Amino acid sequence: MKTYDTPCKLLLTEDEMPKAWYNVKADMANKPAPLANPATMQPVTAEELSHVFCDELVKQELDDTTPYIEIPEEVRRLYCLYRPSPLMRAYRLEEKLQTPARIFFKFEGNNTSGSHKLNSAIAQVYYAKKQGLKGVTTETGAGQWGTAVSMACAFFGLKCQVYMVKCSYEQKPYRREVMRTYGAEVTPSPSMNTEAGRRILAAHPDTIGSLGCAISEAVEAAVTTPDTRYILGSVLSQVLLHQSVIGLETQAALKKYGIKPDVIIGCAGGGSNLGGLLAPFMGEQLRGEAKYRFVAVEPAACPSFTKGEFKYDFCDTGRVCPLAKMYTLGSDFMPSAIHAGGLRYHGMNPTLSQLYHDGILEARTARQLDVFKAATLFARTEGILPAPESSHAIAAAIDEATRCREEGRAENIVFGLSGTGYFDMLAYSKFNDGQMVNDD
Ligand SMILES: *Cc1c(COP(=O)(O)O)cnc(C)c1O
Repeated sequence: MKTYDTPCKLLLTEDEMPKAWYNVKADMANKPAPLANPATMQPVTAEELSHVFCDELVKQELDDTTPYIEIPEEVRRLYCLYRPSPLMRAYRLEEKLQTPARIFFKFEGNNTSGSHKLNSAIAQVYYAKKQGLKGVTTETGAGQWGTAVSMACAFFGLKCQVYMVKCSYEQKPYRREVMRTYGAEVTPSPSMNTEAGRRILAAHPDTIGSLGCAISEAVEAAVTTPDTRYILGSVLSQVLLHQSVIGLETQAALKKYGIKPDVIIGCAGGGSNLGGLLAPFMGEQLRGEAKYRFVAVEPAACPSFTKGEFKYDFCDTGRVCPLAKMYTLGSDFMPSAIHAGGLRYHGMNPTLSQLYHDGILEARTARQLDVFKAATLFARTEGILPAPESSHAIAAAIDEATRCREEGRAENIVFGLSGTGYFDMLAYSKFNDGQMVNDD
């Protein structure tokens, strides 16, 4: 048996929760390229963005100099409903792997939406309410973001319209009902409700949908509905900013117990949970105060970092959003129906893209079967049923711990467990029946 040299849970009190988000762009020498207007290729202005997004969020999106941005009191009070989230030591997984490494994971699945997405949903809906808006529109892939927005809209009393990627809508009826219970209106995408949806359906009548396509519909619905703005659950800078609460808590808890991480790992769809987890550690490294390894894990079926190109591209299939300079597989990329719905996005957050381009962030892919093997091992040792998305990070953490065993190194591995897999039982059932394929 391994000696328990740290607590199982590295707990923080509510008083130790961060009072400000951390904006990693402020410490970057090479800033990410600005969002661009596709018509002019000039940086988008706050005025242009304000038709789509709330004013305060536009300010956050464009801010690349302010390192700390205060978390409003009302947002902190709602964070208290489920934060601080636990930072756990995976003792039983370590034992199983016979590794001298210490494995820690930050668990963000401890709220009904089941993932980290509530951290940004609460912030974004708060700013919409503060601006006097009546409602928000959004897209959802696997359903976690839509659920998070539905919860946040229920807290603040705003209307919530969700465009849900069609294959998820069909695979996850219970997800849809959770959203409706919180008061949201849920539409499968592509739909006939919008110009963008009708255009995509005309070209691909049998499409299973994609995040990029659902984004186009949600944006269109926002700009054509009075007092309504669009909110996005990943990819944007503002989302990374809100998600920095994950990393700030992790940093505070590790400091409290005197642990310095060697490797920090997260799964990457649009980059928000990874970006949030690594932000304050990246800040230390960029300021020359510490050195870490940062690892992004993406599905082999949707390899934006590892197979994509670093260039300006549309954030959505319908090409209604501004252009972002990022690693992208192309805005018309249609990934196969891998079960990690939250990782089926063609692009990657511009800040993480720049860090990867500069060689500060590593990236690797994981294949679907390996991901579910890792998920199962994790469930059987640590007890938590992980989301397929998060299980990409588990697979990489296991690989790193195995390397540590081979090299006889007692490194500290920290990974983000971004959510639970309770709504992914169809995928688990396929895996358990031996019917899952790699799909890349
Ligand atoms: C949405 C989601 C992801 C992927 O999104 P990122 O923006 O890359 O974090 C990962 N894990 C879970 C559980 C999700 O819901």
